[in-house]
Amino acid sequence: MTQSLAGLRPVLLTVDDDPSISRAVARDLRRRYGEHHRIVRAESGEQALEALRELTLRGDQVAVLLADYRMPGMTGIEFLEQAMDLFPAARRVLLTAYADTGAAIDAINVVDLDHYLLKPWDPPEEKLYPVVDALLDAWRTADHAPVTETRVVGHRWSARSHEVRDFLARNQIAYRWCLADEPEGKRLLDAAGTDGLRLPVVVAPGGETLIEPSDAELAERVGLSTVPSADFYDVVVIGGGPAGLGAAVYAASEGLRTVLVERTATGGQAGQSSRIENYLGFPDGVSGSQLTDRARRQATRFGAEVLTTRHAIGLEASGSARSVRFADGSQLHAHAVILATGVTYRQLRAPGVEDLTSRGVFYGSALTEAASCAGEDVYIVGGANSAGQAAVHFARQARSVTLLVRGPSLEASMSHYLIQQLAALPNVAVRPCTEVVAAHGTEHLDKLELRHIPSGATNTIDASWLFVFIGASPHTDWLDGVVARDDAGFVLSGPDLMVDGKRPPGWALDRDPYHLETSLPGVFVAGDARADSMKRVASAVGDGAMAVALVHRYLEKP
Ligand SMILES: Cc1cc2nc3c(=O)[nH]c(=O)nc-3n(C[C@H](O)[C@H](O)[C@H](O)COP(=O)(O)OP(=O)(O)OC[C@H]3O[C@@H](n4cnc5c(N)ncnc54)[C@H](O)[C@@H]3O)c2cc1C
Repeated sequence: MTQSLAGLRPVLLTVDDDPSISRAVARDLRRRYGEHHRIVRAESGEQALEALRELTLRGDQVAVLLADYRMPGMTGIEFLEQAMDLFPAARRVLLTAYADTGAAIDAINVVDLDHYLLKPWDPPEEKLYPVVDALLDAWRTADHAPVTETRVVGHRWSARSHEVRDFLARNQIAYRWCLADEPEGKRLLDAAGTDGLRLPVVVAPGGETLIEPSDAELAERVGLSTVPSADFYDVVVIGGGPAGLGAAVYAASEGLRTVLVERTATGGQAGQSSRIENYLGFPDGVSGSQLTDRARRQATRFGAEVLTTRHAIGLEASGSARSVRFADGSQLHAHAVILATGVTYRQLRAPGVEDLTSRGVFYGSALTEAASCAGEDVYIVGGANSAGQAAVHFARQARSVTLLVRGPSLEASMSHYLIQQLAALPNVAVRPCTEVVAAHGTEHLDKLELRHIPSGATNTIDASWLFVFIGASPHTDWLDGVVARDDAGFVLSGPDLMVDGKRPPGWALDRDPYHLETSLPGVFVAGDARADSMKRVASAVGDGAMAVALVHRYLEKP
């Protein structure tokens, strides 16, 4: 190691066994980041780990790790794997030669790699700095807990404590989780002057204490926008998943006065995905939270207002205006509306499951709870890609991960690449032809009763963690009687509304509904909530963009 460890600036660490390359990376990093960061250089994995251990003891922050793939003794992947235990929030980059690209791609899941960089990285302005800039941005906003962080004190198995953490995590608010019966939690409760009988307690960055806060109170205190700045817009987008964010980016960038309203946290289902590997432009994959963070910043940069904790419960036409009503009784009005409400997780129907939800049974919470499952046995219900992604994610920290699948195998329901990844993970097992018939526990989940479907035989196992990924149904009940929906509740649009060449009942305009336009003129639908949609991030974003083009057409010729 050639760099002094003195100072408090976040560290960028680079390790390469070839001294000339190691020096060159450090030189390029120092040139751009040296003023606000410390560049630490090592020439072997062991040396780099030693440096990281020293940094941990000193309470230092490490923002980015850049490791060469081919190093004698310890490869870059092995190094990054061990480094993750010391600095889990640090962003990880692998430096590879072209010939090693395959290994780098495999590493994406083993060490949750953020990027791989091909050598040589000249000119750094084009190849190195944009990558490191983006990683530093993501580290600062998502993972790196600043000094003024939010703290949540609660019980491990309290449903509301889980919801509050999930809400903060999905809104990318850095927080520290403290158990109420551990010293740090007790200290915070004492300092806040509460007895800890009502939990969770949230200590906001300004030091203000919130006892059992609602999502709206929480959003306001941690700096999320919840109140619109106007009461009339060109377009209201309902739902902040990929479709809604896509619509907001295109609408605002094309000069429409745009507001996006989201009931919980932007990102939707995609925001819950540990890694989206098939979205165009991200060859190394991208985590749902990173994609959401970028999309939200992009939408607001173009001038869209993005509001959270706004639950739309009513929609009506008043003349040419379209009015959206919210759960708190407030309203917003616009020329046009884009429905992008996506789908919600389908509930697992078995005795005991509902009572234990958020107390050991979770829906799509892989990201929030993964750290709590370290060293424990995790069960996942479902055989599709979302279940597979969650299994890969949990396998990094859990002692074992078991997929409970109703079908005879994963082949019919999961992508081939995920099946291969799961097969390579020694702590992941698949139990086909199996269903959960009951969940037991008082305070939290203790046991699961499973049935082997062909034989009907049941057995009961000890289990504290059950994650359910069994598909979803559209969140459109509130639109009943307002727009036409199919039997499953998905919103019909465009040509699908025409029956035997006839326009939908009540349609008063002298034209057919535009593509993506619902049975209420000026109201469009995008993404997973649309009948026959593709249920993919890319198609949701595409729908959002297309809906905006059609809103323009509608505004010109209603
Ligand atoms: C775990 C997981 C992994 C996935 N991985 C991939 C992948 O790798 N690749 C891929 O292409 N696809 C993946 N998908 C599918 C993809 O995420 C979805 O197709 C996509 O998110 C759909 O986008 P959407 O905007 O239509 O809906 P959603 O993402 O469902 O977003 C809808 C949003 O609307 C909000 N909302 C609903 N009702 C209201 C209301 N009344 N008022 C206000 N807001 C409301 C919801 O809170 C939600 O945030 C994955 C899905 C999951 C669950």
